[in-house]
Amino acid sequence: MKKYIPAAVIFAAFETAAISLWLTKDNAFYLFNFSYIGCVIALGIVLYARAYRHARRVVQLLVGLYMLVYLGLICNENMQIEGFWYYLFTGVFEAATIHYAVAKIFGPLIFGRGWCGYACWTAMVLDFLPYKVPASHERRKIGWIRYLAFAASLAFVAALFLAHVGNLERIMFWAFVWGNALYYALGVALAFAFRDNRAFCKYICPVTVFLKPMSYFSLFRVTCDKGKCVSCGRCARVCPMDVDVPDNSRSRKNATECILCMECARACPRGAL
Ligand code: SF4
Ligand code: SF4
Ligand code: SF4
Repeated sequence: MKKYIPAAVIFAAFETAAISLWLTKDNAFYLFNFSYIGCVIALGIVLYARAYRHARRVVQLLVGLYMLVYLGLICNENMQIEGFWYYLFTGVFEAATIHYAVAKIFGPLIFGRGWCGYACWTAMVLDFLPYKVPASHERRKIGWIRYLAFAASLAFVAALFLAHVGNLERIMFWAFVWGNALYYALGVALAFAFRDNRAFCKYICPVTVFLKPMSYFSLFRVTCDKGKCVSCGRCARVCPMDVDVPDNSRSRKNATECILCMECARACPRGAL
């Protein structure tokens, strides 16, 4: 039973947040939303504890589909970065602003880029593609595109506000639809071009402008027990994010890219990770 305690703790933490937000904001949506996310993450931890091979993918699909289909398409909440700017400019601390604060700005101080490994609806699709292990672990020098995408998303929403464009909610809904279509198209094209499922994450995704610096300080991170390690290099070879896994320093190569997928730990013949 001991191995299920972390799942119970996580579930209790989410339930506390769900009930607190429900009561303070007088909105039952928060009760449903955080209870659902808490249930899914707890389920994932239970599956992981039972050594189920696809535990991460189950969580990723249940959270990703919920956010894309239910929150995005049915409830019309733009949860992409444009939605974050939109709610920020309107001064409303809900929907995308809460989501970004928890999953992408402050949360990574605790769980790093767990969002990218277990919840993102873009990666949920990209992870079905055939290049789970990149053909090359050498990075191309095009990471600057993420800053361009970040600036473009901010400029787009700022321009809507400055021009006093009407019917903003409808525009943000269609921005969500077309924005996702563009991400998927680019993500699939890049995955095949670079033979790397996560190429979009490495070079284009604007959210990494938040995720990377915050996850540098992450409490949870993969570390190597040097006493057990035999320097076989298997962990680094299977890493989808090109992390220099056995190096324990925070500034190791591609340190801020780890998505906590645990493929390295699974591949290690010595149980050193
Ligand atoms: S880098 Fe961006 S697209 Fe990739 S998993 Fe993270 S949030 Fe999703
Ligand atoms: S394989 Fe290991 S180091 Fe690489 S992203 Fe997954 S958990 Fe992080
Ligand atoms: S797979 Fe394990 S033993 Fe091999 S280099 Fe990585 S940590 Fe060391």
